[in-house]
Amino acid sequence: MAELNPSQVAASPDASAERPHPPGDYDLVVVGSGPGGLQASYWLSHLGIAHAHLSADPGPGGMFRRFPIFQRLLSWTRPYAPYERATRYYESYDWNSLLAEEPENRSLMPEIMDGISEFPSRPEMERNLTLFAQKTGRAVRYGTRWTATRRDGERFVLETTDGEYRARHVVFAIGAAEPWKPSTPGIEAVPHYADTGPAGEYAGKRVFLVGKMNSGFELAEGLLPWARQIVLCSPRDAKLSVVTRSLVGIRARYLQPYEDHALGGGIYILNAAIERIEKHPDGWRVFTRATLGGADLTLDVDVVIAATGFGSPLGDLGDLGVATFNQGKLPVLTPYWESASVPGLYFAGTISQAMAGLKKHGVPSNSGAVQGARYNARVLAEHIAREHYGWTPPRPEVPATEVVSYLLSEATRGPELWHQRSYLARILSFDEHEGIRDEGILPLAWFVDAPGGDAVAMTIEHTAEGEIRPAVYVRREGKVEEHVMPSDPLLDFESGEHRKQLRSLLSGLPGFHA
Ligand SMILES: Cc1cc2nc3c(=O)[nH]c(=O)nc-3n(C[C@H](O)[C@H](O)[C@H](O)COP(=O)(O)OP(=O)(O)OC[C@H]3O[C@@H](n4cnc5c(N)ncnc54)[C@H](O)[C@@H]3O)c2cc1C
Repeated sequence: MAELNPSQVAASPDASAERPHPPGDYDLVVVGSGPGGLQASYWLSHLGIAHAHLSADPGPGGMFRRFPIFQRLLSWTRPYAPYERATRYYESYDWNSLLAEEPENRSLMPEIMDGISEFPSRPEMERNLTLFAQKTGRAVRYGTRWTATRRDGERFVLETTDGEYRARHVVFAIGAAEPWKPSTPGIEAVPHYADTGPAGEYAGKRVFLVGKMNSGFELAEGLLPWARQIVLCSPRDAKLSVVTRSLVGIRARYLQPYEDHALGGGIYILNAAIERIEKHPDGWRVFTRATLGGADLTLDVDVVIAATGFGSPLGDLGDLGVATFNQGKLPVLTPYWESASVPGLYFAGTISQAMAGLKKHGVPSNSGAVQGARYNARVLAEHIAREHYGWTPPRPEVPATEVVSYLLSEATRGPELWHQRSYLARILSFDEHEGIRDEGILPLAWFVDAPGGDAVAMTIEHTAEGEIRPAVYVRREGKVEEHVMPSDPLLDFESGEHRKQLRSLLSGLPGFHA
């Protein structure tokens, strides 16, 4: 394939002229062309699994064709890092590139960034995904919307705007960007985050934002130079990532409204339930009831925006038997991201966050973001390949003398472990006859419950206090025990003390000797 210059890639190509995968019978169908669908399709193709790929969008990029509204991402990429671009270890410093085997298709994001911020702009992210789709030859039938689903014996039938697709398996990478609102009286008439207009539209206005999550703070920050007054309101206190010391809470880059509030600068952050919202000829009236002390307020404002979150566009999958949770916003999934109630339906991309994993210390995985979901997609594709297409994983042998160094190296710099803490793990199996084998990167939630021979899962955990440290799960004679190793100020887990502890934890496993 000819090399593409990043600057020559159109931000929003209309790829609908090329229409591969017409309606018909396929073994596997992938739905969605955001980062989740592109990444899943890439790994399936890499494993030789033919599939139809369709998307409602006119081109690649998914949600990043539109969001974030105020244009810069939440996820960073450091163009300069301790490791060379296109290496596996560099992935820890680049949250936004999709993964590929071929060096020329890796680390595409830093090649495109403008150097103004470590957070790429939305158009840069869209270009990054478009470039990936082009360079890796993703063949997507764009402009094809899946509209309904039914069973026909062993096959699923997807009705689409182009006709019917039949498949034994479906991977839904349909995102979680469908506007969602709570049942607050009057909120139906309120525009959602997704309907926010150009910032200039809010010049000199009093803006009331329902919701104190990242999307609410993103709008507040974008409107600081425009709005006359901004109120952010929800029942619970805003959590800040710098306080939770994790990605839970408002990200540091959206904290300016918080500081302006603390300094008394015309930004008000209320902890209050919204009882009802009324539309009036010259604006809106919002009735609030304080939840954490203070007065109940009635506020007259010019604009109300519901920054109340998003759900997945699951369509009629519930009628097919797909169990959901979180008010129907997400499907209930197995550790391999398969519907727990309708086998054969898999989920990739941000929707893979529906499999919460162990959520140790209350810290969620990064499956909702690109840097986590891209690894889930590879594990998912390998799982599908193993379960349904007779693929045999490589399982290379690891010499006994290298086991400790290998596991500690993975804990110190393995990007899968760093991005998916207490979620994905490097697994080694120990068997008298087969020796010590590298089973690859697999879901920790699967490992802790799976039957099997002696094995070790190395992962990284993140405590509620923000400490990052290696965690080792050892399965001996069917019983799994968890051991936590010390942290390190420079996050180097290859010290003599770590080696000593790990040697002792592994001692007695078949084939292991230090
Ligand atoms: C406001 C906001 C900001 C975010 N910012 C970041 C960020 O900065 N960094 C980050 O890593 N993550 C961010 N996220 C999380 C983000 O959603 C994911 O990281 C990523 O975009 C999800 O990719 P995806 O492929 O799973 O879904 P999406 O990008 O949403 O793509 C879904 C795809 O499915 C297709 N589709 C949906 N329904 C149908 C249908 N019925 N028929 C056919 N096709 C369909 C769509 O057309 C689209 O192509 C943000 C989320 C939101 C809501």
